Amino acid sequence: MAKKRIAIIGTGVAGTSLVKFFVSDERFNENYEIDLYDGKKTMGRGYAYQHDDENLIVNLPAELMSLTSDQGDYIKWLESNKYEAESYTSRSLYGEYIHSTLMNFVHRHQNINTVESFVEDISFENDENIYTVYTDGAVSKYDAIFLTNGEMSYSDPYELKGEKNFIYNPYPIEDVLKNVKGRIGIIGSGLSAIDCFRYLLKNGHSKVTVLSRSGELPSVRGTYYDLSGEYFSIEHAMSDKNQDLIPLDRIVDLFRKELRAHGIQEELLTRKTDRPEIDLKFDLEHPDEVGKIQYLITSLEDTFKVLYKYLSRKDKTRFMEEYHELIQSNHSPMPPHGAKQILEWIDKGRLEFLDDMESVEVNDEFLVGFEDKNQKPFDVLINATGPVSDIRKDNTLLIKNLYNRMLVEPDEFGGLLIDKYHRVISPRYGTMHNFYTIGALTVGSDYLIKGVTMLSTETYHLVNHFLTRN
Ligand SMILES: Cc1cc2nc3c(=O)[nH]c(=O)nc-3n(C[C@H](O)[C@H](O)[C@H](O)COP(=O)(O)OP(=O)(O)OC[C@H]3O[C@@H](n4cnc5c(N)ncnc54)[C@H](O)[C@@H]3O)c2cc1C
Repeated sequence: MAKKRIAIIGTGVAGTSLVKFFVSDERFNENYEIDLYDGKKTMGRGYAYQHDDENLIVNLPAELMSLTSDQGDYIKWLESNKYEAESYTSRSLYGEYIHSTLMNFVHRHQNINTVESFVEDISFENDENIYTVYTDGAVSKYDAIFLTNGEMSYSDPYELKGEKNFIYNPYPIEDVLKNVKGRIGIIGSGLSAIDCFRYLLKNGHSKVTVLSRSGELPSVRGTYYDLSGEYFSIEHAMSDKNQDLIPLDRIVDLFRKELRAHGIQEELLTRKTDRPEIDLKFDLEHPDEVGKIQYLITSLEDTFKVLYKYLSRKDKTRFMEEYHELIQSNHSPMPPHGAKQILEWIDKGRLEFLDDMESVEVNDEFLVGFEDKNQKPFDVLINATGPVSDIRKDNTLLIKNLYNRMLVEPDEFGGLLIDKYHRVISPRYGTMHNFYTIGALTVGSDYLIKGVTMLSTETYHLVNHFLTRN
């Protein structure tokens, strides 16, 4: 058998999990050669878990963060490396764990190599089914590509990129935010905004303002429940197993039934008032109710993932508009001690939330405008609006080049168009033989798949599909 050369582009949770499944498969042998591409600082860490301030913590308890099939793997790693096996570790520490897991594979397998470079372009030779990977200064040929490059570039809703004192991308926070001074506004109120104000307030800043359209914060993690679905299942959703679509209303009915079966009030889903002090207090005071709904949603992840694929275009649009936020905000909650600290900061007047943000005028300072026509000045604005999901808005070289070559096509629900095996669908060549992708680039097809737990298991299917055909 001729050697098969494989490029894995991006070695965060998804790329590392691919390697894990390759090396644990008995079909994987010296006839396969894997090159792992990533930057020096992010190799085997990924973007979210690179070296950064230790106050940036993971949003899942350590016992749910293992990369291997052994659920206690991360805890064992912490203990064997003399770290405290606390429930919510820092993200940097989790990055150490991913890195050491990946490097173990690399050291044990001579046919796995690291290439400390970012990939800038990929071309395809149709007759030979060969991919050429371009980095700054090097060109290499491969039989297969696994694109696991994580989130796309940051969005910039007020078009401020390049303005003085506008921080377009705040990571790594301890480098980028080290010297900011004056009146600081953070645009966005998700997990990245929390990272930014936690760092600033813990490092001596007297006050920070969080600016957003809605003012909604993630929910607070409640009590753990080991739950499983009774009604919300593929079998119950499909009246006939050859059905190609499942109506959204049927899925919503089953979800309601599931809530009732677990004694969960439906109103709990829509509990948010978008006033952080009220919402955080509510979650902290009702850990059992809140935990039940959060862990129910987590236990139904796999079903959500499959049912999402059976929605019609119309229903998918309606689902994203009407239900996604409700599911999402209960799916990625923040740890309780983080919420308590936020309340303390609000109470002391060190943290302020202003919603209904509408515009930004740039003069010597930033004048932020609100729907009620009030304005507020800031010296520094930090962008925490999160990444774009439309590949046409991404400004990284690789995605720009792939789009320009017509090797990839946007999915209208975000990321790239892929087939059910996670192979890229190209407008020029059709379904791409041996070109797989998963992670933020597959948000349009994969529901709730971007987190550690799903990526560390779902990547199995890509490796299995590839090894079955090669
Ligand atoms: C700030 C932040 C905090 C988060 N916190 C959590 C959390 O607490 N819990 C949780 O479950 N999820 C969290 N997430 C979600 C997180 O994205 C996923 O958990 C997971 O890390 C995604 O894995 P990935 O492998 O798809 O992407 P990443 O981990 O981002 O890995 C992608 C890798 O690809 C590399 N790369 C990008 N472009 C190229 C290129 N052209 N060439 C070569 N390499 C490239 C990047 O450097 C990076 O190392 C967080 C995300 C962010 C942004």
